[in-house]
Amino acid sequence: MTDAASRIEALRDEVERHTYLYYALDAPEITDAAFDSLMRELRELERDHPELVTSDSPTQRVGGYVGEQFSPVAHQERMYSLDNAMDVEELGRWIDGVAEVVGEMPPLCCELKIDGSSIALTYEDGRLVRAATRGDGTTGEDITANMRAVKDVPLRLRPQAAEGMLDAAAPVELRGEVYMPRKSFDALNLAAEAEGKSPFANPRNAAAGSIRQKDPAITSMRDLSTFIYAVGDASALRVGSQWELLQWLKGAGFHVNPDVRLCESRQEVFDFCAQSLERRGELPYEIDGVVVKVDSFEVQQRMGFTSRAPRWAIAYKFPPEEKTTVMRDITVQVGRTGVLTPVAELEPVYVAGSTVARATLHNEDEVHRKDVRIGDTVVVRKAGDVIPEVVGPILALRPEGACAWEAPKTCPSCGMPVVREEGESALRCISIDCPAQSLERLLHWVSREAMDIDGMGEEIVGRLVEVGRLGDVAFYTLTEDELANLDTGRLSKDDKPIKLGRTVAAKLVCAIEDSKGRDFHRVLNGLGMRHVGKNTARQIAEAYPSMDALAAASEEELVGVYGIGEKVARGIWKFLRTPDNVDVIERLARAGVAMQAAQPDAGPGEKPLSGLTFVLTGSLSGLGMTRPEASEALEALGAKTSGSVSAKTSYVIAGEAAGSKYDKAVKLGVPVLGEDDLKRMLDTGQPPAIPS
Ligand code: AMP
Repeated sequence: MTDAASRIEALRDEVERHTYLYYALDAPEITDAAFDSLMRELRELERDHPELVTSDSPTQRVGGYVGEQFSPVAHQERMYSLDNAMDVEELGRWIDGVAEVVGEMPPLCCELKIDGSSIALTYEDGRLVRAATRGDGTTGEDITANMRAVKDVPLRLRPQAAEGMLDAAAPVELRGEVYMPRKSFDALNLAAEAEGKSPFANPRNAAAGSIRQKDPAITSMRDLSTFIYAVGDASALRVGSQWELLQWLKGAGFHVNPDVRLCESRQEVFDFCAQSLERRGELPYEIDGVVVKVDSFEVQQRMGFTSRAPRWAIAYKFPPEEKTTVMRDITVQVGRTGVLTPVAELEPVYVAGSTVARATLHNEDEVHRKDVRIGDTVVVRKAGDVIPEVVGPILALRPEGACAWEAPKTCPSCGMPVVREEGESALRCISIDCPAQSLERLLHWVSREAMDIDGMGEEIVGRLVEVGRLGDVAFYTLTEDELANLDTGRLSKDDKPIKLGRTVAAKLVCAIEDSKGRDFHRVLNGLGMRHVGKNTARQIAEAYPSMDALAAASEEELVGVYGIGEKVARGIWKFLRTPDNVDVIERLARAGVAMQAAQPDAGPGEKPLSGLTFVLTGSLSGLGMTRPEASEALEALGAKTSGSVSAKTSYVIAGEAAGSKYDKAVKLGVPVLGEDDLKRMLDTGQPPAIPS
């Protein structure tokens, strides 16, 4: 080895050792300045000897662009979800059940449930070769470039990792959670607000968004961390339990959460849960519960999995965090469909991961049912840990003279009288020219979940609506000049109006241009049809991958789409036959917005069972699944299921007491599979070996 080569190797080892000490063990041995100096020397040597640069060098964490799409990755073993215990009683029943099945109370390994995003890291020959999201459990998305940019993810396993592996060169898939520490989350949202962008709802969404960036440089700036706690195929390691696995992971270089307890009794588990709940607010990251796992791998294997989760683990979910604060006012917001929503304006309070200053009160009836009045001290929590909610007032603290709230008779935006239709709980402004409605429609169109136009925040859209430059969603004709000269409504120190300026305008024009090719389901979501949210939009786009196809569908055909009911179908049908809407869609199309899916026919092969049709018959009680559950699991793998056997059926799956469908399959020569075959398919995500 040349001098340079050996120095580079030595520097890499040293940099990695310090990264490990700093991130995984939280026990740095040298100052940041000394660490930077090592990195600088390594960078300079690599610059002078480019032939010696390897992808696992710590200088190579941030690589090039990911490209438009993240490619699919099949997981080594399926990534399951977890069953939940919503309170201590349920948790106790689960522990009793486990003890009964096992014949005694087995040791249980209790870990914090980190509120982040699941990831799987694959190492081959000790090097990080792939990182993936959980996806649907069988197939995730390739986020390797982004996970390499997360500093506590080792690019190489530490040398002692090999001792615990049967074959140190063989691929091993390690799993855990990537999360955003609270402090970083707050800083990120402050910066987003300053730039007029909408903030992330909570650290979990921020982490999930950050690992799906197209530019790893952005991920690297997001200050993410990981906790690793699982292995795809445990037989690759010389470890017999969860506890031993955690020790091995720590030694191999991963960041492993230190708050783990091996419990021998129910009471110990309860104590760990109670202590964790108490410490929840002190931790620098978010947790939403405790995961209790049977420690022994051998017992885990005996207990197995249901269709969605292991039987040997449970997530004890913390009750939603509640805080009290003063409600200063009730304001009324006009939504994009004209619905008036009362909103509680709160004294800002930190609840479950973010500061809450407003919470919806849904509608007039809800305000009266909860009997909340301006000036009340109220209890606030987050529903599903995301949406802030006012639980109710603390009556003892009600200020004297606080009156019941009265709903407005006119729209606070346009001043027109509001109506409440029979059978509806909502007050509605039915004016076509209501500025609040067009603003909300536009904000929805540009939002992250719809067309995701970077930089088009509330401030800019608001200004454009105010100056009458935007009447509807067809705003693709804005020029850079117009935007650059847009008066922001703010004044400079010497009282001159501040314009948006060239730099921001140029970026916006690019972002608008970029959004023209968004997925079709985003367009459908963005149009704001009644009852069509992001999930329904996806279902529609799958069935009708272009606007022309959708516009040609009858109401009855739309009801035939999986997950679409009559009300939704009617809403879509009517929307696409309203001249104003057709006009907007046509103008969008003329402006270049794609009105069809990028690949209208993704074709088979995208998911492991795509293109196969299954018919289920008999009882699947041996698998602990109902037939609808089994159908759902097969469909998640891309298969179709049908109720009757025909020559087009790929396989019939016959459980106990299979009836006439079995006979028909035999008659037509359709291959018949048993429960074991089904289990294997669901476990491995692979089609059956028998040719169809
Ligand atoms: P849920 O998403 O509510 O179904 O919960 C299951 C998820 O919890 C898993 O997929 C993991 O991503 C996550 N999780 C967080 N911490 C842990 C942990 N210590 N052990 C297992 N899963 C965890």
